[in-house]
Amino acid sequence: MHEIGHCLGMHHTQKRADGSQEYFGHGPHLKMYWENVASTWVGQYTPDNRPYTGSGYEGEGDVHVGYAPYDFESIMHYPRQGGAAAPYYDTVPSSYNSVVGQRWHLSAGDILQIQDMYNCKRHRFQVQELPTSEAPEWLLAEVRQITITTSAWTTVTFQKPFGEVTVRIALQNDRCNSN
Ligand SMILES: [Zn+2]
Repeated sequence: MHEIGHCLGMHHTQKRADGSQEYFGHGPHLKMYWENVASTWVGQYTPDNRPYTGSGYEGEGDVHVGYAPYDFESIMHYPRQGGAAAPYYDTVPSSYNSVVGQRWHLSAGDILQIQDMYNCKRHRFQVQELPTSEAPEWLLAEVRQITITTSAWTTVTFQKPFGEVTVRIALQNDRCNSN
């Protein structure tokens, strides 16, 4: 699931601008123990502006406008580093220490992020098996499930008011990394 997130254009949550530092009144959400972080991993914790932190108003039907809360549960968040190694960080508040690094499901924030990113970039994918006239309705609907069926196609299931609809989406995003 994490790798699918990359394929959809998601970046690592812990690299958010408000992750290990304060940023415009938000964060820091991680109390870093830099002395524990292996030098080759430091770059994974230095803030940058690529990870999603919300978006401006993108027109009628926009699923999210403004700042997106820091998502400790995101499938794109690194764990604190397990094994015998000393932890790289504590979450702020520390109650989220047990949440970070989960790889079981998309969090509510992950789903909203994907919806928001693809709502504003709908010209970047192509939909099959659905009449064009229905597109505005399902684009506003809740994403239930995303599965990669082939290297070229992703199947996305949306919850509609009267049931679910499954569509195939051709990814035209080349950001498929392997970590
Ligand atoms: Zn990754």
